[in-house]
Amino acid sequence: PAADQGLHADVTGAPGAAQRRAVAKTITLLESTRPDHRARADALLNALLPHSGRSFRLGISGVPGVGKSTFIEALGLFLIERGHRVAVLAVDPSSSISGGSILGDKTRMERLSMDTRAYIRPSPSSGTLGGVAEKTREAMLVCEAAGHDVVIVETVGVGQSETAVAGMTDMFVLLQLPNAGDDLQAIKKGVMELADLVVINKADLDEAAATRARAQISSSLRLIGMHGNPDHLHHDQQVWHPDVMQLSALKGSGLAEFWAAITRFRDLQTANGRLAARRQLQDQAWMWSLIDAGLKQRFKAHPAVTTALPQLTGDVHAGRMAASVAARRLLDLFH
Ligand code: GDP
Repeated sequence: PAADQGLHADVTGAPGAAQRRAVAKTITLLESTRPDHRARADALLNALLPHSGRSFRLGISGVPGVGKSTFIEALGLFLIERGHRVAVLAVDPSSSISGGSILGDKTRMERLSMDTRAYIRPSPSSGTLGGVAEKTREAMLVCEAAGHDVVIVETVGVGQSETAVAGMTDMFVLLQLPNAGDDLQAIKKGVMELADLVVINKADLDEAAATRARAQISSSLRLIGMHGNPDHLHHDQQVWHPDVMQLSALKGSGLAEFWAAITRFRDLQTANGRLAARRQLQDQAWMWSLIDAGLKQRFKAHPAVTTALPQLTGDVHAGRMAASVAARRLLDLFH
């Protein structure tokens, strides 16, 4: 349709009010559940794809109150002053329950959201984590096509949303409080393994605690590096080793050092090919996870399956049929 060619032209056109409107409209279109909207959004996404991918995708996580919005606003302002165009997106699956999202509150990032060089979009509130993450991932491509060269994806440090955000970004940063090191149990091990960089925020509150936390988290990252994430193999100068730094988002101190670390990561991962490889893996994993979800949905809606399901689940429940036999029978009904 002609209107969508207009949208495409405005998204990829010159920065300004028309572009911002077009980006917002395109994201609204792809968040819609109407099949005709989905069809238009798919066509647009594919047309925008060649213009996407030229940003650095930065994931940021941390528990509520750690200072994510303060940090992202300070970083965003720091970056646009240096000529970058920043987009901030969010993955907050709780937003559909609470009715508000982590970025929905207008008082958050007020200065950054008023600046036309930045684009801030609250988390979609489409229910499941998978659904929310899917929309955010697509919105990221739209922002990239509009020329945003730094895309920040924020998520709350609860549930599985960190895995989803780490799975759509080039670098995953975990924000911690200065007292985090006192209780390493409080840091979910799985999340620590995802982190390319740990930032201890609010270092202004307790410098000594922040330094202590830094040492403790550094040593646990070294342990993970020795045993876990093959992306973080040790003794190899060609690969990135997760690091810990401290800063104060409120005072704006440490931002230049933070961005220098990001730049080092990006340069190294570009030179050793891991940035491109990570994106390729993410795309494949993404495609298959959507296929998995879609197949399950179709399976459950399949007439022969819905007819046979109550009987067979009842049989399994009563111990009359092995679960594996029931699964095979149901799968055989699904054509
Ligand atoms: P979020 O829930 O993770 O987004 O956290 P916020 O950015 O809303 O911050 C929570 C509170 O911590 C707010 O009152 C901030 O002003 C405060 N805060 C954030 N960063 C710092 C910091 O570096 N130092 C101090 N002292 N307070 C901070």
